[in-house]
Amino acid sequence: MRLVRNRRIKYGWLILTVLLMFVTVRLAWVQLVMKHQRVPGSRHTMVEASLIQRERGIVLDSGRGHFTDRHGQALTGGLTWAAVLFPVTEKELNDSQTQIDRLAKILRTDAKHLKQVWGKQKEPRLWHGKNAAIPLTLTKDQIRQIQELHLPKVKILPYEQRYGNRLSGMQWLGFVSGQRKESLFYQDEPDITGTSGLEKTLDALIRGDGSTIVYYPVNSGNEVIQDLKPMVKAPGNPYYPLRVVTTVDAKIQHGIEQLTENAGMKEGAVVVLDTRNADIVAMVSRPFYNPESIQPEYGAWENRGIKAKAPGSIFKLVTAAAVLEQGLSSPDEVFHCDGEYGKFGLSCWKEGGHGTIGLREGFAESCNVVFAELSERLTASQMQSAAAALGFGQTVGWEAKDFLGLPALRPLDLEQKGTIFSDKANADDAGVRVQTGIGQRDAAVTPLQAANAVVTLLHGGVKTRPRILKQIHYANGQLLKEASPQAERPAKGGISRRTSSILLEWMEDVVQDGTGSTLKDRKWKLAGKSGTAQVTIKGRPRNNQWFIGYGPVEQPRYAIAVLVENRSPNSRNQATDIFGQVADLLASLESGSKSSSAGLSSES
Ligand SMILES: [Zn+2]
Repeated sequence: MRLVRNRRIKYGWLILTVLLMFVTVRLAWVQLVMKHQRVPGSRHTMVEASLIQRERGIVLDSGRGHFTDRHGQALTGGLTWAAVLFPVTEKELNDSQTQIDRLAKILRTDAKHLKQVWGKQKEPRLWHGKNAAIPLTLTKDQIRQIQELHLPKVKILPYEQRYGNRLSGMQWLGFVSGQRKESLFYQDEPDITGTSGLEKTLDALIRGDGSTIVYYPVNSGNEVIQDLKPMVKAPGNPYYPLRVVTTVDAKIQHGIEQLTENAGMKEGAVVVLDTRNADIVAMVSRPFYNPESIQPEYGAWENRGIKAKAPGSIFKLVTAAAVLEQGLSSPDEVFHCDGEYGKFGLSCWKEGGHGTIGLREGFAESCNVVFAELSERLTASQMQSAAAALGFGQTVGWEAKDFLGLPALRPLDLEQKGTIFSDKANADDAGVRVQTGIGQRDAAVTPLQAANAVVTLLHGGVKTRPRILKQIHYANGQLLKEASPQAERPAKGGISRRTSSILLEWMEDVVQDGTGSTLKDRKWKLAGKSGTAQVTIKGRPRNNQWFIGYGPVEQPRYAIAVLVENRSPNSRNQATDIFGQVADLLASLESGSKSSSAGLSSES
């Protein structure tokens, strides 16, 4: 019996030992190997997951790529400091009344409002202030004063203010939406998506490699454990976030934004292109928007630089180009304008008419009668083809197929094509052609197209495609991809060198003795074409005012298009004024950079 029992005990021990060994090995396996593997259905390892259960984080930086101007000046990604208020009890609030009073003053509010907001909080929140969409940016002074209060439930944290909290005319940059980084209690990476502009068109490329997050240890009631230090986690990838270099010059962009503000320009756009390669140097859209707090229904986030509008007389460039290309008139043909063009109830802007007037003068004076007569000589398809040769009726922005794995890339978001004739069926009707030839009826062009048409003329008819995306760099500065400029002379149907240079000369006349003569005394010698289009807005007759052109005439550096929308009929052409101011700004920046570079070379 004893033997049997001993044997049983032996077997029992053996089984137990084997079991224990198994458990030990299994534990070691979990400890040594599995803890570094990802938990199924999560991006965290077991170790991380166990920590995160007891921590809550705030995203300091989403890891998303950033944008710079052509000189590397940052356009996104400023760090600011903000106050985070952690949940408090009513007793805590009442016990520290004097400190609350002082804190309220520092945070630019009153104690009553502060207590009301703070008392209701169930989780940590960044302090905004009354009716502010984004957290209040703290100055050094404010930070010091808050720290001196020694309030344990108030912390100061860095906060990524992607666009700065300002009104901006850079609608081409766009904005992001999604879970805001100030949401403190979350379990997963915030889902931030580019919703408009470059933020949208480049979204797939600039999504980051993980956020920089500060974690706070919390207890089971989600209260922060005060004596445990917060911990910062950042992705260790040297290649991200990517840096997108745009073609825009921030100094010129902001200078023009300021200038349109001072001029009281309410609606419209200003586009400045580099004449060498059609790069977009500035594109300002009014009204301005605040990318930190978007009001979708208000529509200010829309980029009017790429929205098609009735062009009025700037479209006479197309009619003139068509007539010259087809040999249907010559620069010295003489017309007669008595102010009316009876057949279609059309009249010239000049009461009583221009009298006897040559074609060249008719362009400078923007005579409707001359251009109505020219339009009658053209077929709809001849007008269409001249428009296409100058880039109208199609998108002109730089685009690429198969770019860094993207099947197609069009950096300019929602660029419109515009129209020449919207109804092909009646396009050959003389009345339709006559109205289209002076830029009325269905004709619609974008400010970007208008500026680009000037660049195309300056290149003798070579069609250019304005870039806004220049390069993409890795975080370490290494170049990932260059977006090369695009330009091509159309195989057929393009504008000849001869026609181009005639039109450019005529644009000089406009400023020297035509409708743009107020631009005669600007810093640079300028050339261009004015336009006024009659439109109906909310049932009322309104005007779109345009001026497009280039400067300096002797050695063209910039092509400029200005559109001011929704102006009262018979008001002064504000676009011409703004064109002149933009040209002056460019001239002074140009001479400034020249003298500074001259200074540099004399030193070396
Ligand atoms: Zn006339």
